[in-house]
Amino acid sequence: MIVVLFGPPGSGKGTQAAGVAAHLGVPHIATGDMLRAEVERGSALGREAAPIMEAGQLISDDLIIRVMGSRLAEPDAAAGALLDGFPRTVAQAEALDALLRSRGRAVDEVFLLQVPDDVLLERVLKRAAEEGRADDTAATFGRRLAAYRDETEPVLGHYRRERVPVVTVDGVGTVEGVAERIHAALPRPHQLGQAS
Ligand code: AMP
Repeated sequence: MIVVLFGPPGSGKGTQAAGVAAHLGVPHIATGDMLRAEVERGSALGREAAPIMEAGQLISDDLIIRVMGSRLAEPDAAAGALLDGFPRTVAQAEALDALLRSRGRAVDEVFLLQVPDDVLLERVLKRAAEEGRADDTAATFGRRLAAYRDETEPVLGHYRRERVPVVTVDGVGTVEGVAERIHAALPRPHQLGQAS
């Protein structure tokens, strides 16, 4: 089962991901978390990614596709994965399709968390105060939202063209309320059995 959690920065992907991954019995794979861990470690990848992330821009497709290719080849992802923050461009979505196709698989479902821009900014600034993420400033948020609109939103059109179900979930409200709406739209375990 390959599920993509989709939405703008601050839409709640990271907050909701653990519960959804546990429900599906697959690992939660978040490219942003992976990149932040590399920055923390001071690896070559982390040193390359840090200034780009801090500027609110996207890491190159080649680099992130390589990172995801090796992550998805790890044994825990054999049963599937919940993807958070990837794919973020149509080129990434196409590379993911090709990778999955070579294993006889495909993206099963996309969940789009829908949240108005003013609520997104409010959440990102709250996260800045709580977690101190370098890219959670008002100025960088504007650039991240622009990157989302220009480069990431077209990925939805890609999945719709490929006939992958795209489920829109209202992402405003309490963490529990949003979780309930996502869970109501998730495939039930017996459907998962049929799908695999
Ligand atoms: P996130 O935690 O998903 O908001 O990601 C934080 C930052 O990491 C983004 O603003 C990008 O700079 C970078 N990043 C994460 N995932 C990707 C991706 N799939 N493609 C390119 N850049 C990414």
